[in-house]
Amino acid sequence: MQKARTREINLGGLKLGGNNPIRVQSMTNTDTSKFLETWTQVEQLALAGCEIIRIGVKDEKCIDPFIKIQEQTKVPLVADIHFNADLAIECIKRGADGIRINPGNIGSVDTVEKIIQTAKNSKVCIRIGVNSGSLEKELLKKYGHPCPEALAESALNWAKFFEDCGFYNFKLSIKSSNIEEMVKANLLVAEKTTAPLHLGLTEAGTLISGLIRSTLGLSKLLEQGIGDTIRISLSSDPVNEVIAGRELLKSLKLRTGVQVISCPTCTRTEIDVMNIAERLEMEFSNVEVPIKIAVMGCVVNGPGEAKEADFGIAGGIKEGLLFAKGEIVKKVPEELLVKELLALMKR
Ligand code: SF4
Repeated sequence: MQKARTREINLGGLKLGGNNPIRVQSMTNTDTSKFLETWTQVEQLALAGCEIIRIGVKDEKCIDPFIKIQEQTKVPLVADIHFNADLAIECIKRGADGIRINPGNIGSVDTVEKIIQTAKNSKVCIRIGVNSGSLEKELLKKYGHPCPEALAESALNWAKFFEDCGFYNFKLSIKSSNIEEMVKANLLVAEKTTAPLHLGLTEAGTLISGLIRSTLGLSKLLEQGIGDTIRISLSSDPVNEVIAGRELLKSLKLRTGVQVISCPTCTRTEIDVMNIAERLEMEFSNVEVPIKIAVMGCVVNGPGEAKEADFGIAGGIKEGLLFAKGEIVKKVPEELLVKELLALMKR
């Protein structure tokens, strides 16, 4: 698979688009005006390997905490703003790495141009959002209802408008909760622009249903080299969005990283496979080294089934075997399995 050629843009020092890796992003769900809560979640997302964090700035009370967090985190932040151009301009002037607006709902064309010029002067990145809810009246009249063609036309019109203003540091995000609509709209847009694309299915659902729908939709585009940043939107802890996003890119071989495989468990299971696998997944979620770790519930089938893994654990009664390349290295008590495996891997 080869990544489609889009132009490179810069979000607070992070390069996106072009031949840069596809970046994983998520969004906080705390009250932004509460600094500590939001900061804590930003730290958790960063630890999980989130590369771009979007934070809703819904009123003026949110601006100070947003800027304070940005000053303290290494991850680029994007201020998510709807309907209020003054907030967008204020965030840009105060030094936000990026802002996200839906030009269709932020005000008049003149207002959008004012935001663009302010961003241009401050070298701030803009994410242009287009979705069914923000479609222009003329397009709704032309197509009769929101559809992939209308979404694509809106996105391309705005891309041209920004470019005509001499502004190129933007990416496009065309979202829908309908998988086919989102895929088709992005295919249409990708054909006609070099602007980087952010992919995501909106209102995707809860942990399991949202994961399945997002994976299905995003894979169709990613496999064709379309997409420069992704978000797996879930009604769940945003950390899960990051783990899922990274896992999707690893599975499609678009990013490298540690892969934790684990057995489904059965009556022979002797150790807490689920807990151990989740701890390891969390431990390595932001590590970009191609290593496979197997967590198997028993010694009967464990080492044999996981021969292809680089490292592994196979459960015994209140203990487990550590192995490397299918060979047993040592036996350790269950509570020390993760610690000893990490030490073995370090060595
Ligand atoms: S590895 Fe062992 S515990 Fe896990 S599913 Fe297979 S037989 Fe069951």
